[in-house]
Amino acid sequence: MRKPLIAGNWKMNTTLSEGLALIHSIHASLSSTSCDVVICPPFTHLASFSEICRDKSFFLGAQNMSVFESGAYTGEVSPGMLRDMGIPYVIIGHSERRTLFVETDDIIAKKLALALSYQLTPILCIGESLEARENGRALQIIKQQLDEGLRHITSESFSLNNAVIAYEPIWAIGTGKVASSEEAQEVHSFIRDYLATRFSDAIAEKTRVLYGGSVKPDNAQELLAKPDIDGALVGGASLVSDAFLGIINAAIS
Ligand code: PEP
Repeated sequence: MRKPLIAGNWKMNTTLSEGLALIHSIHASLSSTSCDVVICPPFTHLASFSEICRDKSFFLGAQNMSVFESGAYTGEVSPGMLRDMGIPYVIIGHSERRTLFVETDDIIAKKLALALSYQLTPILCIGESLEARENGRALQIIKQQLDEGLRHITSESFSLNNAVIAYEPIWAIGTGKVASSEEAQEVHSFIRDYLATRFSDAIAEKTRVLYGGSVKPDNAQELLAKPDIDGALVGGASLVSDAFLGIINAAIS
């Protein structure tokens, strides 16, 4: 059985003091060990939050990292810096990075390999556009993104670092339009079959595949009840303590 994982992507929201208030409120209500919780705040919050998550009731993740290891790359944060701070997770290839910051499949493939080489656990985001879904090309795009994103990856490094995949249809991110649980399950099962073929049945069986795109407490239970949906990557609702806790509770129940 795969342990559910609920990850909150705060994006570029909250000042440090607002973030501390939010994380304290979430932390105060986290009790279960039957669900992994990952908080991905802005980089500026990671050091302060490290103290709060010492009890391991939640883990920290970065929202991005550099494709370079060190050097003259103004404004970048390297995988080594994250590892040195004890940050276990990093989101790679979020659709906002792909579209707004022109991250290509090539960059994402390099970042993924680099994250794994630094023993970080990547959350690789993939997902089709509305146009691709309407043209019946969703699975083709998913396959293409997996082929590209995983092209430098060995089964050993993928498995050792417990890499996570997040299926996030672009048309569902921040739009309030959620994929139906059947639509999401179809893609998740496709991803699991892909992992079995690309790596092994054992890796496919243990890899957590998250759904992301307008997850809220009232739709989480139905999505998380599907056999191949192992958790959620949550944007907007992760900024509201009760909503985020409601999604975690749906994963536990
Ligand atoms: C996201 O940005 O990863 C996301 C899923 O956002 P939202 O939950 O707001 O759709």
